[in-house]
Amino acid sequence: MPKPEFAADCRRCAALCCVSLAFDRSRQFAFDKPAGLPCPHLSPDDRCCIHHRLVERGFAGCARYDCLGAGQRVTEEVLPGCHWREGPAAAGRVFEAFRVLRNIHAALELLDSAASLPLSSSELESCRRLSRRLAPATPWTEPALAELEDGPVFHEVRAFLESLRGSVARSGQRRLPIVTGSTEAPADRSARPRAAGSGSANSR
Ligand code: SF4
Ligand code: SF4
Repeated sequence: MPKPEFAADCRRCAALCCVSLAFDRSRQFAFDKPAGLPCPHLSPDDRCCIHHRLVERGFAGCARYDCLGAGQRVTEEVLPGCHWREGPAAAGRVFEAFRVLRNIHAALELLDSAASLPLSSSELESCRRLSRRLAPATPWTEPALAELEDGPVFHEVRAFLESLRGSVARSGQRRLPIVTGSTEAPADRSARPRAAGSGSANSR
């Protein structure tokens, strides 16, 4: 099973988070932005004009956001050559793929963490089986993403993680990783857009 890249690499992405995601004016974001519209700080070459001053300019949420590698993967693997600037149809396809793939990467990261717990052999096998479904050997396509989302896998991941409370207690960890299981972008609502400084090749 190929392990996906979990680190965002904005240089290989078309600023998907800066357009597709919404954010509300708050301590994290200096103004409101609706989903689907480019942030006013986004330059025509899909780079952030205030990248080096995000916190100073009131966009700490951007500095904290992490797409977990989904952005560059959609741009390069799922829909290469399809850019959201081409129009609403293209944008809809790109943003939908980004939403689903971000959920996939979040679930895979949680399963990775779960695999390091003191699991029984059957729990470990369940963990690996779920991971294989989320990281198939063949590249993701739009139909494959849609089919996955229509299926039960996110709910199964959540149920599996919730079943690990005993293993978490044995490991001494205080919290059980929980997947939202939602088909909506999970934890992103608190820290929408992406940006610099999330410990990866974020360079926009
Ligand atoms: S953080 Fe945003 S710009 Fe960077 S790779 Fe992810 S989606 Fe793309
Ligand atoms: S990183 Fe934040 S401030 Fe910069 S363009 Fe993206 S959404 Fe706007």
